[in-house]
Parts: sequence; structure tokens; C-alpha cells
Amino acid sequence: MIPALMPTYNRADLAFEHGQGAVLWTVDGRRFLDFGAGIATSSIGHGHPHLTKVIAEQAAKVMHVSNLYRVPQAERLAQRLVDSSFADSVFFCNSGAEANEGMIKAVRKYHAENGHPERFRMICFEGAFHGRTLATLSATGNEKYLAGFGPPVEGFDHVPFGNMNALRDAIGPGTAGIMIEPIQGEGGVRPASLDYLRALRAAADEFGLLLALDEVQTGMGRSGKLWAHQWAGIEPDVMSSAKGIGGGFPLGAILAKEKVAQYLKPGTHGTTYGGNPLACAAGNAVLDVILAPGFLEQVDRVARHLWRGLLDLAKRHPQVIEDVRGAGLLVGIKLREGIVNTDAQAAGVNEGLLSVAAGQNVLRLAPPLIITEAEADEALGLLDRVMRRLTPSAANIAAK
Ligand SMILES: *Cc1c(COP(=O)(O)O)cnc(C)c1O
Repeated sequence: MIPALMPTYNRADLAFEHGQGAVLWTVDGRRFLDFGAGIATSSIGHGHPHLTKVIAEQAAKVMHVSNLYRVPQAERLAQRLVDSSFADSVFFCNSGAEANEGMIKAVRKYHAENGHPERFRMICFEGAFHGRTLATLSATGNEKYLAGFGPPVEGFDHVPFGNMNALRDAIGPGTAGIMIEPIQGEGGVRPASLDYLRALRAAADEFGLLLALDEVQTGMGRSGKLWAHQWAGIEPDVMSSAKGIGGGFPLGAILAKEKVAQYLKPGTHGTTYGGNPLACAAGNAVLDVILAPGFLEQVDRVARHLWRGLLDLAKRHPQVIEDVRGAGLLVGIKLREGIVNTDAQAAGVNEGLLSVAAGQNVLRLAPPLIITEAEADEALGLLDRVMRRLTPSAANIAAK
């Protein structure tokens, strides 16, 4: 019989009762070091005293009023995001897919309002992940996710990630924009080179396209800077954020330059919950932590500490680890052919470490940004045990 909870996930048989910082405890009292952070989402850890207090206080005052009224918490959060990004204006929604859906609409609207309704096509990348709505699935372009859901939404052209010639060849009279994750998250923690991001910016300028960045996973400090594109010294025209922005409370955002945002006038786009007082109070509390002086410097420091350990780990386990990649606290451990990432993930669970599998046989680490060097060391110790477990024995190798 079908479970009451629709079986869209193969869930691990773990149920967590509470968490503190980077640690989660199950209902049966087992302790786990959480280096998955609910897929890069619990950005300031579990049970953060400031976040939980702000949410409780706001919930008691007023959670939701709709966007028929002013929402001071949203106005404040938008202003703070504008002050700390390239953007001039922000739209709030509830998830990454929704932010991307709105971002795609914004790109199309920009060209339509500029007299080019025929320019609605978005260039996207192989290995991308942009969400599960029909348009964002079409932007994702993964046949496996699209199968059975009818014709994809028209207007998404895919090119190989990192290939500039293919990108330029794909630009046509109908092209409206380029949509890319600075680091492909679900696709296997594959970073675009900084030069590639700069070349995309230049190509967008050359052809009058909008550069749309999906920073749902890479943003909000995950890379060691507030936004991952800042490493390349470029600015997008529009960007999506979600995951870490609410610290576990559902919140998404579209950040846009005025030239794009000006066309999203009353009635053009909307949401019932999006940007409600509770969600934006949570967003402000997360920003209080992430924008505090020295916080991102500490993320960068602890990330460099973790990376030193991971590169050493890779050296000691060459039979298991092919490569370590990513940026900051978004790390992909690419495993050798024949070693399976979901086995590594399960071995981690046995050792008390939570991680997330990603594409291209990658084991992904995305711990809360508040981890300490001691917690990084603990994770490295557990990973060492995982890698030893996965090391093919001489007998196994002989059998192959
Ligand atoms: C997770 C993710 C999304 C989708 O976000 P949801 O909140 O699950 O809708 C979109 N883009 C990227 C890069 C993501 O990592």
C-alpha cells in the first residue's frame, strides 16, 4: 500500500528529534555531525538562539498578512540584500524553483518590454539543476527528471558547462539570457572557472543578453563570500537565492538590477505567502548572523582548514578519491569509478556523519556555515574511516 507521505524520496531511515549547531540527534538518541545541512540550507546551524528567538517572537505577533499590505520585515530584508549585492530590487518567494521561475519570467519580460517579445530563449548548461516546476525542469534539461511530464516548456537551449565556443554558437536572434549556477550543486559540485563567468558576462554584454545567476545553493556565504559570483568580480543582471537565505525557514528571492526589475510592475508577478512577516523575520535574523563583522572571514578560514584536510585525505586515499572540488563550504568529493557515492554517504551515516550525494558520483559536503575547526577535524576523521571502508581490498581488486 502506498505510504500516506507520497513516496517521492528514497529516505534514509533516520528521524531527527533535535539539533544544536552542526549536530543532530535522532529520536532514538544517536548523534550525527551534520555536513549536509538539509542540502546546504541550515546555513547558521540547528537551534540557532537568535534565529529561533526571532521566529518565535514574530510568530506570536503576526505570521502572515499577504502582499496586499506593506510588510516592514520584507522592506528591511530587501534593503539589506540590495545594500549587500549588485541588485537594486528584490522579490520574495518561498523556494529556489519559484525564485528561478520568476527569474526566467523577469528575463523574458525585459526583452518583451524592450520591443523584442521574440527573445525569450535562455541558454542553460548540461548538468544544471534549477528546480522541479515545469519551466525550471526545462531549464534543468535532465531527461530523467522530465520523463513522463509532457512537453518541456519551450525556450531552453543547453550547452556543455564551461565551453565558450558552444555557448557563443548557441546565441541566436531569440536568445534572451544565460542562466547558470556559478558552481553546479546537484550536478556534482562543479565550479565554473572564474574566467568562464567573466567570459559569460562579456558575451551577455556583447549580444544584449541578460546574465541570470542561480545562486540558490552557492549564495548566502556558502562559498566564503556572500555571493559566489563575487569571486569572479562580475555582476549578474538578475539572480536567484533560496536554501541558506532562511536558515531552514522556506524563503526564496529574486535579486535584480533596476533595468530588469522596473518591468515587474503591479500585476505582473505575485505570490500569496512570499515575503511574509515570519519568513522575512527569519531572513533578517540569518542576515544578522552572516553579515556580522568577521563572520564571512571565519567561514573562509574554516573552509580553508577543511580543504587542507580534504586534500590530505585525497592524497591518503587515492584508490577512493579522484578529486576534491567546489568552493568554501560547498565541497564535492569525486569518487573513483567503481566506488559509489551513495555507498559513501551510507558509510558516513554508519560513522555518524551526514553528507549529500550529488551528480557525477560526488559526495557533497555542505555543513552549516557556523562550524568550528574542531568540527571540521571531526568530520575529516569520520571521512577517513569512510574512505578506509570503501578502499577496495587486494582480494577485491584481484577479482575484478
Ligand atoms: C536546490 C536548488 C534549486 C531548487 O530549490 P527548491 O527550493 O528545491 O525549489 C534550484 N537551483 C539550485 C542551484 C539548487 O541547488
